[in-house]
Parts: sequence; structure tokens; C-alpha cells
Amino acid sequence: MSKLKNLQDLFLDEVKDIYHAEKQLLKALPKMAKAASSDELRAAFEEHLEQTQTHVERLEKVFELLEHAPRGKKCEAMEGLIKEGSHLMEEDAEPAVMDAGLIASAQKVEHYEIATYGTLATFAQNLGMDKAAKLLEETLAEEKETDENLTELASTLNFEAINS
Ligand code: FE
Ligand code: FE
Repeated sequence: MSKLKNLQDLFLDEVKDIYHAEKQLLKALPKMAKAASSDELRAAFEEHLEQTQTHVERLEKVFELLEHAPRGKKCEAMEGLIKEGSHLMEEDAEPAVMDAGLIASAQKVEHYEIATYGTLATFAQNLGMDKAAKLLEETLAEEKETDENLTELASTLNFEAINS
């Protein structure tokens, strides 16, 4: 018998992946906040760090609904995105240019999360797991909101990087 024998198995596997991804973000976001020069951008990262804690807790509830202990499975995609972000932070960059780069990194992360939570919410609906679907949709909405906030911040902050 295959390890992934049905959609629920795949769902659990993907929940483990995003659980590990969110945990990585708990460590990365404080570093990004520290690297930001704009107060607004720093505040945005700090706020999203708090939300990320909630995302981890919601996933733990999903594990509970799946009657599975919360356990992550290494998310290589998030690891790669975070690695690129840390390379950026090691660069000798003008503060406004660094901020523009941090926004770009953060939006790549948000888009990865949006893709994953969108898929997971649909899987949960397909599986008739309404409670799990609701939890995943709540997080999805917050990831989308964060992405929009970053777009808005970029609309002013990126201009400061043009002639910095
Ligand atoms: Fe998240
Ligand atoms: Fe996020």
C-alpha cells in the first residue's frame, strides 16, 4: 500500500509542511524586523510575527482534528526563501534599498503561504472537514492581508530607494 493512499494522507502531509514553514518564519521574522529601517515596515514584520504564532496554533488544531500529533516535515521551499532573505540581509545595502529588498522577500513568503493555505482549505472542504477548512481560511485571509499591506508599504518605501 502506498504511503499516500488518499487525499487525507496528502492533506496531512501538506499540513506538516506548512507547520514546519511557519515555525521557520517564527525565527526569521524577528531578524527581518531588526534589519528594517522604516518604522512602519518593522511594525508590519512584528505584527506578522504575532499572527504567525496564531497560524502555528491553528495548525495545531488542524492536527488535532486529524487525530495526529503536531509534527513538521521539513519545508525546503520555505527554507530556500528564508535563505535568500538572509543572504540579502548580509548585503551592504543602503537602508531604503534594504527595506525594498525585505519587502520583496516577505512577499515571496506570503505568496508561498497563500498558495499553500488556498490548497489546504480546498482539500479540507473536499474532505468534508469544515472546522479545519474554517481555520485554514482564517489564516489564508491574514496572509492575503499581509501581502496587501506589504504592497502598500512598497508603494511609498520603494520610492525612497530610487535615489537613496
Ligand atoms: Fe503564516
Ligand atoms: Fe505569512
